[in-house]
Amino acid sequence: MSISNDLPVFNAMRAELKRQQNSLELIASENFVSEAVMQASGSVMTNKYAEGYPGRRYYGGCEHHDTIEALAIDRAKELFGADHANVQPHSGATANFAAYSAIIKPGAKILAMDLDHGGHLTHGSKVNFSGRLFDVVPYGVNEETHCIDMMKVAALAEEHRPDLIVAGASAYAREIDFAAFGKIAAEQDIPLMVDMAHIAGLVAAGVHMSPVPYADIITTTTHKTLRGPRGGLILCRKSRAKKLNSRVFPGCQGGPLMQQVAAKAVAFGEALDPSFKAYAAAIIENARTLANTLLERGVNLVSGGTDNHIVLLDLRDSTVSGAEAEAILESAGITTNKNKIPFDPEPPTITSGIRLGTPALTTRGMGQAEMEKIGTWIADILASPEDSRLQETILNEVEKLCGDFPLYPSRRL
Ligand SMILES: *Cc1c(COP(=O)(O)O)cnc(C)c1O
Repeated sequence: MSISNDLPVFNAMRAELKRQQNSLELIASENFVSEAVMQASGSVMTNKYAEGYPGRRYYGGCEHHDTIEALAIDRAKELFGADHANVQPHSGATANFAAYSAIIKPGAKILAMDLDHGGHLTHGSKVNFSGRLFDVVPYGVNEETHCIDMMKVAALAEEHRPDLIVAGASAYAREIDFAAFGKIAAEQDIPLMVDMAHIAGLVAAGVHMSPVPYADIITTTTHKTLRGPRGGLILCRKSRAKKLNSRVFPGCQGGPLMQQVAAKAVAFGEALDPSFKAYAAAIIENARTLANTLLERGVNLVSGGTDNHIVLLDLRDSTVSGAEAEAILESAGITTNKNKIPFDPEPPTITSGIRLGTPALTTRGMGQAEMEKIGTWIADILASPEDSRLQETILNEVEKLCGDFPLYPSRRL
């Protein structure tokens, strides 16, 4: 039986392909994987239990799974210059759960970035396991610069003596100074965990400072700037490898999703290709151009610009909230997400921010000229949020632009 026999699923998947092809994907955490990555993740690798690790499985018939997982591990180590890699985490959140449990125990104290300032749910939010299991001391950004206040981080570490310092963010447009975090951690003899989920592709390409020399343990997703399948990855020093592996399996997972592990191997291979460096550099150039276009039109940006793939709009002076802006941009074919900004007066369901990111459109081949066009459209829409004719006109322009940068032209699903 083919999937076309299951019409409700088939039709929704066809519609999703069309949506991806005909709209502008500006969600900072999303990307478009290659046909090769999709082939691996939709393959017979999904049919097998492979609990354990290469050469040490709890099921028979794993020899090809061993080959593929070993390739994924070797490529991840080469890509980031790390001693050890675990490629089994099902997601970024699971990677963080396993990493925490390799270093600290429930009740431990962690110093991590405040969600409202750009941190992640898994860095100590009350509604997440991290906030339930750990005693959380949050750090944030400076009220004027919107950059992480490293003096404050050092002072908080000294005052609270945390068991772990966590660096990494989901809505932070500036380079994170991992060397400075490493220095504080080393001076105060506190382990450092880095969650590089958003910027892993930039780190792999050498266009963002690498945390590898400074961190005891590093977690990431594989599906954001790294442009792999949905999943997680953990890197660490040799001394922590054995414990980490046991915390992933059997600690918090059963059988690995081997179709995703195969797809990770393919994606890491792609990221090792010299063309990936050019891709990552283009992501940043595109974000700068988008940021400058918006600034020229008087749109306020958190931190006043960007060093990475993220542009965070500050709508506090605007007539629309983050939620309203997300909705009107979507009606013009521009997909974004509302996001809290530092010192946001609005709750998370409303917010005063819009987060934009360039990884997906850069994958489509769009460059500076397209970013100027898109920045202008966004500024036009935000300046006249009630003008539904304008949104319709731009929607037509968006579809034309998407046609010039075809996505998955030969796919049916
Ligand atoms: C996206 C993200 C995660 C979580 O990844 P999931 O795969 O969605 O669980 C964790 N940490 C940071 C910093 C992220 O940006």
